[in-house]
Amino acid sequence: MDSLIFMKIKLQKREINEKSFMKFLNSPIEKVFFQNQTIYIKRDDLLSKNFSGNKARKFAYFLDYDFTDVQKVVSYGSNQSNAMYSLSVLAKLKGWEFDYYVTHIPNYLEQNPQGNFKYALENGMRLIVKENKPLRDKIENQETLFIEEGGREIYAEYGLKILAQEIETWKKAQGFENINIFLPAGTGTTALYLQKNSKDSVYTVPCVGDEYYLKEQFKMLEENENFYPNIMHTSKKRHFGKLYRESYNIWLKLQDKMGIEFDLLYDPHGWLTLLENPQIFDKPILYIHQGGLIGNESMLARYKRKYDENI
Ligand SMILES: *Cc1c(COP(=O)(O)O)cnc(C)c1O
Repeated sequence: MDSLIFMKIKLQKREINEKSFMKFLNSPIEKVFFQNQTIYIKRDDLLSKNFSGNKARKFAYFLDYDFTDVQKVVSYGSNQSNAMYSLSVLAKLKGWEFDYYVTHIPNYLEQNPQGNFKYALENGMRLIVKENKPLRDKIENQETLFIEEGGREIYAEYGLKILAQEIETWKKAQGFENINIFLPAGTGTTALYLQKNSKDSVYTVPCVGDEYYLKEQFKMLEENENFYPNIMHTSKKRHFGKLYRESYNIWLKLQDKMGIEFDLLYDPHGWLTLLENPQIFDKPILYIHQGGLIGNESMLARYKRKYDENI
């Protein structure tokens, strides 16, 4: 984390705040049965309605400490990103301005704002449409914090260390010697920092790009390959954001059998991959629910339009 000091804003490595807001939130671990397997689910979707899942973990660093010089946060990425919405909540809580760069806004979305896009705008996000992504060097200064797409930043380790500690405490209480941890990856930030701070094996699957792309993402945050999670193989490549009948089906089934709503962008590919790799069920398995349910509003509308009549 020492490279934090290279950022113009001079963020520091900090110890976990005794009064971390995470300690006041509830993220239980539930035991479920699904397709003849016993699976434990870490309910990070329940952390809080507005600031949930792995984005709450990634940005916890900023909630736990004051950054008196910071006036504004700048980021970029897709127009329906979960990170965008969480940053709009963070900015609002901190009293910061929030500029968000997108390459385009579809006409349909502009005329029918919904999901993360709608709620981020309601939180005061300023949307900037530009073809090229903004560069940290041009933007970051004492007052302006720059955040990479999806929150792929080194200070994300702070909140993920807390997650790793919660899991360790639970594991001891259950009397488990070792467990396997599974979660689907976008930038891989969550899986990487969880592996780095955990004694157990973390398994993941890329939802954006392939295995090589995911390793490149890991490398941007961490040189030491010993800290990299295990990357699982899938029988089918699925493109990020595309709709698949089997993805919608497993999502419905999970909801029906467990009574838990998962995210529609990452979790279906995650679950389908997990279930076709039974070798990792040799130890108790913990699936990390990474939130993202506000994003389901727009995904579900797309799925309903495409499949609802003949699923
Ligand atoms: C952002 C997000 C991910 C991906 O997290 P990374 O740390 O980028 O790998 C997975 N699931 C959900 C629900 C998310 O919102």
